[in-house]
Amino acid sequence: MAESNIPSTVTTTVPAPWQRAASGANLLAANGTLGVTIFEEMTTLAVRTGAINLGQGFPDEDGPAEIKAAAQAAIASGANQYAPGKGILPLREAVSAHQQRFYGLTPDPETEVIITTGATEAIAASLMALVEAGDEVLTFEPFYDSYGAIIGLAGATHVTAPLLAPDFMPDMAALEAAFSSRTKVVLINNPHNPTGAVFPREMLQRVVELAARHDAVIVTDEVYEHLTFGAQHIPVATLPGAAGRTVTISSAGKTFSFTGWKIGWLSGPEHLVAAIRTVKQFLSYSSGTPFQSAIAVGLGLPDDFYAGIAATLRHKRDILSDGLKAAGLDVFTPQGTYFVNVDTAPLGISDSVDLARRLPELVGVAAIPVPVFCHPEGAERTRSLLRFAFCKKTEVLEEAAARLATLRDRL
Ligand code: PMP
Ligand code: GLN
Repeated sequence: MAESNIPSTVTTTVPAPWQRAASGANLLAANGTLGVTIFEEMTTLAVRTGAINLGQGFPDEDGPAEIKAAAQAAIASGANQYAPGKGILPLREAVSAHQQRFYGLTPDPETEVIITTGATEAIAASLMALVEAGDEVLTFEPFYDSYGAIIGLAGATHVTAPLLAPDFMPDMAALEAAFSSRTKVVLINNPHNPTGAVFPREMLQRVVELAARHDAVIVTDEVYEHLTFGAQHIPVATLPGAAGRTVTISSAGKTFSFTGWKIGWLSGPEHLVAAIRTVKQFLSYSSGTPFQSAIAVGLGLPDDFYAGIAATLRHKRDILSDGLKAAGLDVFTPQGTYFVNVDTAPLGISDSVDLARRLPELVGVAAIPVPVFCHPEGAERTRSLLRFAFCKKTEVLEEAAARLATLRDRL
């Protein structure tokens, strides 16, 4: 092996890129060591202990058979080399048609849509294209872990506005105060992970007005767009004044239950999409050629399919929520996503990070502590909150509920 060029002691006050990312991302790195994400930590723990994994959000059943068949057919027919950097045309067309069918938006598949390696790459490429060191990126808090990491890697400053229990709507005064002349991007996530909040039109419209006033770009992560339970999903790009400054991100992982395929996409005005595409080509160039074909088929599925996934998940939400309530926890009923948050304080718990690390051994269930999605102040506010994923078979959720019912006796 070649000798490493990396000096053994680094004397610089500027943190290395991985340190910037880690400090933005999760508590595991708070002690200065390189950490894995909370999702990987909890899944590893669940596997080691044989616990039911309600931590990392992935379904335990595959998505529609016709989408799998389309991927197999694409592989068999030889669609196995690089896709174009911006994605195959049938999928870009399908993304555009989906935006039109559900929201009346008409992005041009040639210039206003790109296919990415999951929403994760769409987020990374957008931030890297749009922000520079010294710029501020504004998100809600709690925030999805990759946001903090990528803002850190981009050398930007991460400013947050809190979402407050029990309904996890933003404190509007704090949101307004969080904007500044350096706000370059407002990164919205709606429906929101980890809280399950679905933001109403008036609130989103206010964000658009504030972004316009500060000349900020809105990047909106709408990967859970079809997973809502009664509350209407309002894409930011449909609001007056938004389209010209908004990049919309989504992913096949959530809608079609193929999280492992990592097919995502984004759409927005040509000048923003062109800048993001420039960065994206140096991240992955392109990926998943046969999966791209298959997701084009998926996006064309009839409206019944989309209504069906939401109805199924709503039922699962209710099974798990009832179990969590019966276990003595305070449940914050989500309006969207496949996550439900609970307050463990009624059981006398004040540190959900510690509890999450012990929960698999205690009762055979894994969950994610909400403070890991926060900076220190937000972590204090959410210190007793835990997030459970309910994208699992109903019998698995019932078994998890039965196990959690024993928690109060095992603490
Ligand atoms: N954004 C949010 C809010 C998510 O919850 C996730 C994944 N669960 C992603 C982005 C990443 O999506 P993908 O797996 O398509 O990269
Ligand atoms: N987004 C999924 C979650 O919130 C996990 C994705 C990942 O492991 N990076 O649980």
